[in-house]
Amino acid sequence: MNILLLGSGGREHALAWKIAASPLVERLYCAPGNAGIAQECELVALDPADHAAVIAFCCAQTIGLVVVGPEAPMAAGIVDDLAAAGIKAFGASREAAKLESSKGFTKDLCKANNIPTAAYERFTAPAPAKDYVRTRGAPIVVKADGLAAGKGVVVAPTVAEAEAAIDMMFGGGLGDAGAEVVIEEFLSGEEASFFALCDGETALALASAQDHKRAFDGDQGPNTGGMGAYSPVPVMTPEMSRRAMDEFVLPTVRAMKAMGAPYKGVLYAGLMITAEGPKLIEYNVRFGDPECQVLMLRLMSDLVPALIACCDGALKNFDLRWFPDAALTVVMAAKGYPGSYAKGSVIEGLDRAAEVEGVEIFHAGTKAEGDKTVANGGRVLNVCALGKTVGEAQQRAYAAIDRIRWADGFCRRDIGFRAVERERSSR
Ligand code: AMP
Repeated sequence: MNILLLGSGGREHALAWKIAASPLVERLYCAPGNAGIAQECELVALDPADHAAVIAFCCAQTIGLVVVGPEAPMAAGIVDDLAAAGIKAFGASREAAKLESSKGFTKDLCKANNIPTAAYERFTAPAPAKDYVRTRGAPIVVKADGLAAGKGVVVAPTVAEAEAAIDMMFGGGLGDAGAEVVIEEFLSGEEASFFALCDGETALALASAQDHKRAFDGDQGPNTGGMGAYSPVPVMTPEMSRRAMDEFVLPTVRAMKAMGAPYKGVLYAGLMITAEGPKLIEYNVRFGDPECQVLMLRLMSDLVPALIACCDGALKNFDLRWFPDAALTVVMAAKGYPGSYAKGSVIEGLDRAAEVEGVEIFHAGTKAEGDKTVANGGRVLNVCALGKTVGEAQQRAYAAIDRIRWADGFCRRDIGFRAVERERSSR
C-alpha cells in the first residue's frame, strides 16, 4: 500500500522510520517533512492545511492510508475531509479532536463520566474568573480552552499571578485559544503519560513513556515542547497501566461513541499520580513528541497493521509486541529555544554519532543545504538510544551527542534522571 504521512517533526521522523520498515508499504510519502525524513521516504511539498490539495495528491498517488502526526490538522477536520473523499486516515475526527482542542470539553466529559481530574470551572469573562481564583486561593492553574502550542497553561503560585494570566488570556495574548478559560485545582504528584490506540470501540495500551518539559537540567527553566523522554516509566506499574485504561481511556472511548464522535487514533493521557490516585491533567489526540520516538524504538511489531486496525474498528483482538530494552531520547535544541533562536547553523558529526551502539538519530527542525544539514527550528535533533536499562540508554545517547559538532545547539544532560536514580537505588 502507499502511505502519506503528514507532519515535519521528530515525531514524524520516528513514525516514518517505523512505517518504512513495514513490508506492507510500497511507497511512503511525507508532507512537508524534514531533512531526516527525506532519508526514509519521498518528501512532498504539500501544506497539510490545504485539504483539497492533500486529497488530490492521495487520489493521484493511490494512497491507501494517511497518517496524521500533529493535532492542528485533526482539529481542522482533515480526517473528516479525507473520509468524505473515501480515503482512510489514522487520526481523530474534528469532533473527537476536541479532547485536545477544548480543555473545557474534556473537563465536562470527565465530570459526566466520573473520570478523576482536578476540580474546575469554565469562564468566558475575566471578572468571574478572578472571583473564583480569590475564593479558591493559590496555587491554582489557569488554562486557555483552545490550542495554544504549549503556551496555554499557567501554573500560578499566587493569586496575583493567576489574575495576570487571566488578563493575558482574555486580553488576546493567545489569540482565539484564550476566548474561554478553564481554572482548575493545583495537583501535586509525579506526572506520567499513558498512550493507547483506539478504534472507536475499544483501546490497546502502548508502552509507557515520559517526557521532560522544562528547558534546563533538574526540570528547571521555561516550559518547552519537550527536551527528552524515556520508556518504560517506573511509576507506570502494570497496576497503574490497568487503572489508566479502566478509569480514563475506556470510559472516554465509551463516552465519545455515545456522543456520536467515536474516538479513533492515539489517545495520550497526561496523568498526575497524586496521593489520592491518578488524575487526568489533559488529553492529547496525537503521539507525544518526543515520547513517540522512544515508543517507536521499543515497538517490535509492525506499526502499519495497528494503524489500519484503528481506522477499521478492528483492534479488539489485536496485540503488539515490544522489545524489553529501555529507550531514551535527548532533544538538541537551538540556543535561545524556547525563546527566539537563529536558524541556518551547520550541524556536523551525525554519521559518527549514529555509529554508537543502539543509537538512532531522528531529525526535528533540520533542512538539507547541498550535502550539509542545517538547523531550521527550535527543537532540531532527537538523539535516541536503546539499552538494557534507562541508564545504559542514557549513556549511549550522550556518547552520541558528544560526537555531534553544533556550536549553536544545546541539550539537557540529565534526561531520564528519575528513572536512572530508581534503577540505582533498586540495585
Ligand atoms: P498541559 O499543557 O495541560 O499538559 O499542562 C502543562 C503542564 O502544566 C503539565 O505537564 C503539568 O506539569 C502542569 N499542569 C497542568 N495542569 C496542572 C494541574 N492541575 N496541577 C498541577 N500542574 C498542572
